[in-house]
Amino acid sequence: MHALPYLTLDRDVRQLPLSAVATFNTQISGGVLTAADAAYDAARKVWNATIDRRPTLIARCLVTSDVQAAVRFAAEHRMLLSVRGGGHHIAGNAVAEGGLMIDLSGMRTIDVDPARRIARVGAGALLADVDRATQAHGLAVPLGINSTTGVAGLTLGGGFGWLTRSYGMTVDNLAAARIVTADAVVHEVSATSEPDLFWALRGGGGNFGVVTSFEFRLHPVGPELHAGLVVFPFAQAHRVLRAWRDFNATSPDELSVWSVLRKAPPLPFLPAAAHGTDVVIFALVHSGSLEAGERAAAPVLDFGEPIASALGPTPYAGFQGAFDPLLTPGQRNYWKSNNFSALGDGAIDVIVTAAAESPGPQCEIFVAQLGGAMARVAADATAFVARDARYVMNLHGRWSEPADDDKVRAWARRSFRAAAAHATGSGYVNFLTEDEGERVAASYGANHARLQALKRRYDAHNLFRMNLNIAPAAERAWQGSA
Ligand SMILES: Cc1cc2nc3c(=O)[nH]c(=O)nc-3n(C[C@H](O)[C@H](O)[C@H](O)COP(=O)(O)OP(=O)(O)OC[C@H]3O[C@@H](n4cnc5c(N)ncnc54)[C@H](O)[C@@H]3O)c2cc1C
Repeated sequence: MHALPYLTLDRDVRQLPLSAVATFNTQISGGVLTAADAAYDAARKVWNATIDRRPTLIARCLVTSDVQAAVRFAAEHRMLLSVRGGGHHIAGNAVAEGGLMIDLSGMRTIDVDPARRIARVGAGALLADVDRATQAHGLAVPLGINSTTGVAGLTLGGGFGWLTRSYGMTVDNLAAARIVTADAVVHEVSATSEPDLFWALRGGGGNFGVVTSFEFRLHPVGPELHAGLVVFPFAQAHRVLRAWRDFNATSPDELSVWSVLRKAPPLPFLPAAAHGTDVVIFALVHSGSLEAGERAAAPVLDFGEPIASALGPTPYAGFQGAFDPLLTPGQRNYWKSNNFSALGDGAIDVIVTAAAESPGPQCEIFVAQLGGAMARVAADATAFVARDARYVMNLHGRWSEPADDDKVRAWARRSFRAAAAHATGSGYVNFLTEDEGERVAASYGANHARLQALKRRYDAHNLFRMNLNIAPAAERAWQGSA
């Protein structure tokens, strides 16, 4: 064998001489994997088990110059290119069948400067890595709620979690980033250095290049916060969700209360008889003092008659992993999500019906409460536009057996359509599945045209197309060498 078959950007099959692979291997600090390598199968795995793709090459990048070499190689061969941060996105765009995968998972260095309240974070870091490093100084940046998620993909799409109502989205706390663009040039971007590109990165996904490090602004948080879970029987679902919605109208920004409708996991504080029954779980975190948190969260216990609750002083970094056991990698996943500017009774009815029709024990509905600091940022201040979303509902279709693919997907699609009548019509690119490319323009709303113009400026040939793609304003004919 003198060559490896690969797919071009247009998905034509071409042959890559092994001599080119050997040369490329010398340019990448962590080496280049092919299907012949023992480490190949583990490296191509991502969180969602429905994604089972075989890249022709995996470039294990450890430093920015590796990424430059990989981008140059992909452009030279017009090779289909994907970028892997934490590998969590359900669409699976981190892995390109027949293409080159830039694997950033080895770039996990984190430097915290507690005096300046800044953290510089490598693009392969997971949320747990960042929370551990920043909480050692009593500091944190708003991230997501599952500690094994990658910081890179989360940040580039927007990023929200328990601290978002207090301190904004992850992108609102991004001070600077280092990015390799399609011409393999390194840019240090911030509000004062290439502000257009910096604007596009804050929500524009992986469309503009490969970010190799992020610099975040940090806030004093915890390390212990008032946090925990309150669990109600599903029979009270309408009542407790309405009480939650009404409570949220005046609750302080420091308090975030999300709802989760699913079968009760075997949590130690729940009576055994409740395990496996349908429940509504309110998960909450208060970012201020323990006393203020206890006061602010007390009314949640009165939404109905709880089965049980576990509220109290909780290490913030620990609570960041609270949902990890429900969101383990290796299961099949298909998600659909809607944004709501308000949660009317009609929307609540749809959510409760969807939960009642849940097609399997791992399926669940998460409804995140947003607003607060996030909503006070102008919609055109960052590429992320949906500042009016007060709630994001995520229908987590999750199952084990391929035989259940159609059943679970049909449930998610049906429930999504029913909820759409009550939703804003925009979406969150970090939650879109691979068949939702048509939702990208609506997800960026009034910012889409500016993003398309910037995509043309920085990636006119759409080298970075394995993502929720923003098409360049007008694609130019390719002038590369291959
Ligand atoms: C279990 C679970 C829980 C989640 N919870 C939350 C949550 O609470 N809040 C929230 O906001 N989101 C949440 N998400 C969504 C999450 O933000 C996205 O899945 C995000 O894309 C994950 O980032 P990643 O680096 O792990 O993903 P990857 O799959 O590695 O990357 C996703 C895409 O991002 C791009 N990308 C990744 N790294 C880079 C880089 N360095 N440079 C350029 N482009 C890059 C690529 O286009 C890639 O295809 C959750 C997802 C899961 C699966």
